Amino acid sequence: MPMANIQGSLPAPRYTCGTVAPRTPLDAAAVRRDFPILRRDVRGRPLVYLDNAATTQKPQRVIDRLVRYYSDENANVHRGVHLLSAEATDACDAARERVRQFLNAADAREIVWVRGTTEAINLVAETWGRARVGAGDEIVVSEMEHHSNILPWQALCEEKGARLRVVPVTDTGELRLDACTELLGSRTRLVAVPHVSNALGTINPVEELVRLAHERSIPVLLDGAQAVAHMPVDLQAIGCDFYAFSAHKVFGPTGIGVLYARASLLDEMRPYQRGGGTIRSVSFEETLYADAPGRFEAGTPHIAGIVGLAAAIEYLTDLGIAQVAAYEQELLAAATAALSEVPGLRLIGTAPHKAGILSFAIDDIHPHDVGTILDRSGVAIRAGHHCCQPLMARFGVPATARASLACYNTREDVQALAAALRTVRTVFA
Ligand code: PLP
Repeated sequence: MPMANIQGSLPAPRYTCGTVAPRTPLDAAAVRRDFPILRRDVRGRPLVYLDNAATTQKPQRVIDRLVRYYSDENANVHRGVHLLSAEATDACDAARERVRQFLNAADAREIVWVRGTTEAINLVAETWGRARVGAGDEIVVSEMEHHSNILPWQALCEEKGARLRVVPVTDTGELRLDACTELLGSRTRLVAVPHVSNALGTINPVEELVRLAHERSIPVLLDGAQAVAHMPVDLQAIGCDFYAFSAHKVFGPTGIGVLYARASLLDEMRPYQRGGGTIRSVSFEETLYADAPGRFEAGTPHIAGIVGLAAAIEYLTDLGIAQVAAYEQELLAAATAALSEVPGLRLIGTAPHKAGILSFAIDDIHPHDVGTILDRSGVAIRAGHHCCQPLMARFGVPATARASLACYNTREDVQALAAALRTVRTVFA
């Protein structure tokens, strides 16, 4: 069906991005002061950190929280009889509630601790997927997936004799909703797509996608790795069934992340790993497993990570996520304008609704060379396929250079990036 017909019949997409006008603009200079690492030099130049899509820096408040946990509070959870254990358990419970509020999930039991986005998606594929996907079924992903949202589904399809279907993206880097609609059929068991593309910056119309899928009773998993630090995420408004993110991309520690899953789905899912913390009772004849989320959290959790994530979310909430989103949109506009002035630079990913991610190529200079030259000026960007090899193939490039913004970046950072980029061609002249 032609794209215009389908899109004409749909309401205008709504984007869960910084569309709320904040009352007080973000003071980025003050935000910077909260991040000690931003005071350091790199190769004799002040650090300009523009690799936030890979990982974000940590504010002093999160660092202090980790130190306090290990200095004053360290104990194992699961309700030991002594005070420290009770306090650690309470801190983890409070953190779960904090994440629930942050995502506006309906119930804290829907928040499962995992190592990160990658583990969250693997958990869903290994438990829900193995039970629900059979021979001849289909899983719909998109051309803009991170490998973490391809490989678990590809392996499941191979095992079950199911088929991976792929929604193409347009030349600007938007999901083809018309093609997506056509792919959704009676054999589709799941739609799994990113909220925000890590390589293009595209903010997908997730509410619209969920509506299209749910009309056909198809659940939706959203990879939220690149969304949660940059825009308000309201899971009840979006209506998705699974949502995954990593703490380290939202100013928290590495090694901890969140799987949100609708309670009715968690109830039907078998444990992912088995061990302490997951059970109601054990005998050599039979084990009865606990309800969610405990059933999915085998072994000692990453307690410091959990309390560190809660501190990161509190920090971001105090800044104001709407303020952060609005500020980053302004900075993205400034960065896009600055990069468009750099001779030979071609942006890859020019969707109208984007988060602060700028992927680009300069002439046919290899992106690794671009990254290395920028590093000499203290400008940290990423170069590579960004774990998106199919997307790179779609755009006919082996790799891109990528600058990615966060709320502590400033116009001076953008100017430093543009200035360093202007030197790249001269090196190869
Ligand atoms: N999905 C997206 C869109 C990402 O950007 C990333 C990390 O870059 C991941 C998944 C994987 O996240 P993690 O390595 O924290 O599990």
